[in-house]
Amino acid sequence: MFIADLHLHSHYSRATSKTLDLENLNYWAQLKGVTVVGTADFTHPEWFSTLEEQLDEAEPGLYKLRDEYSRPLEEQLPSKCRGEVRFMLTVEISSIYKKNGRIRKVHNIVFMPSLLAAAKFSAELAKIGNLKADGRPILRLDCRDLLEIVLETHPDAFLVPAHIWTPHFAVLGAASGFDSLEECFEDLTPHLFAVETGLSSDPPMNGLLSQLDRYTLISNSDAHSPAKLMREGNIFESELSYYGIKKAWETDDPDIWRGTIEFFPEAGKYHLDGHRKCGERMTPEESAASGGLCPTCGRKVTEGVFNRVHTLADRHVGMQREDMEPFIHLVPLTEVLGQVFQQGENTKKVQAEYFRLLHQFGNEFSILTETPLEELAAFSTPLLATGIGRVRDSTVDAISGYDGVYGVIKTITDEDRDLLPGLEAAGEIGLCKDNIQVSSEATPTVK
Ligand SMILES: [Zn+2]
Ligand SMILES: [Zn+2]
Repeated sequence: MFIADLHLHSHYSRATSKTLDLENLNYWAQLKGVTVVGTADFTHPEWFSTLEEQLDEAEPGLYKLRDEYSRPLEEQLPSKCRGEVRFMLTVEISSIYKKNGRIRKVHNIVFMPSLLAAAKFSAELAKIGNLKADGRPILRLDCRDLLEIVLETHPDAFLVPAHIWTPHFAVLGAASGFDSLEECFEDLTPHLFAVETGLSSDPPMNGLLSQLDRYTLISNSDAHSPAKLMREGNIFESELSYYGIKKAWETDDPDIWRGTIEFFPEAGKYHLDGHRKCGERMTPEESAASGGLCPTCGRKVTEGVFNRVHTLADRHVGMQREDMEPFIHLVPLTEVLGQVFQQGENTKKVQAEYFRLLHQFGNEFSILTETPLEELAAFSTPLLATGIGRVRDSTVDAISGYDGVYGVIKTITDEDRDLLPGLEAAGEIGLCKDNIQVSSEATPTVK
């Protein structure tokens, strides 16, 4: 089994961390338990030079950071986190163009099987727009024509529509997208085989649309800093190569494709409708009742993913297709620790405990999904075991995100805080220890 997180950004993309270089991605991938990381931004000329200089091909279509670059940070790596890391050539392209009378803004992820193919693709795009201004280039280029360039570049290159439900920059987005993939990609639609569902939706939500049945639902972190890697991701049992990954998604074969790691969709920053400036978070019913306008200022609210999915859905909840890929919901470990200590994720206390746990148990994915809760309770605190237990059996409380504000997944309740000292004294741990499951049926209990 290996995890791949293939849509993220380098420090050449706008509004991203300066530490998004290959050394840090290589290091953080190991802390997180990710084996294959997207290079991101390969169309950026300077970033591409870095890729050429620092990477060597390790398996067909996958690259490894050269020792001289990986070594310095790896010296600080908890030994139990040590693992192989590979890079796959990826880039997100932002297309802004007019079609059928409306301005469209759509993001797509492009995958290339070699540095040579990537260079050829970038040379084509350089004729259309400026690739130096942003690691995620903004081009006046119809998505259909972008896909055509991808297909003409290399027979194994492919394109996946990115975070398809995001209101402002997605193929099915409410503000500037389309109502179907066909309307966007036209005659080339059959060349698509996967869509990225984004942080604000999960497979059951996407299963409400029969038009998505033939696509593999994939997930990535879209990280803008190394520590955000794997907040969503993909689990493979395939051969470790570009072709193994492509085949898993193309065939949807459960022997090699094991589904996704997901945010609870309520945690995504566009889950519900609303207006951030006024602090108005609204359900679809509430925004319909107000005519889609903010009750405070009267401006148009941003339609969230939940509303948009239900607008385009042709099925009811519970009637989704049966062959849906498995998935697990995760909450980043620093977020659970922040709730344990009632402190911010970036505080010294949370960060120190995060690394202490990684030294003891290994990478973050294994801690969140495998480490026995009893051991976590004994080594850290019973509250941590409770929080992780709740994530594992999806009995968390959620405050939904809206209009660019992230939601909050509450893994620890006030009752837990009151109860646990007693439980600890009695040698017990959290509330969920007999009910640990990771299954495709898991749905969050949203109160
Ligand atoms: Zn994007
Ligand atoms: Zn408002």
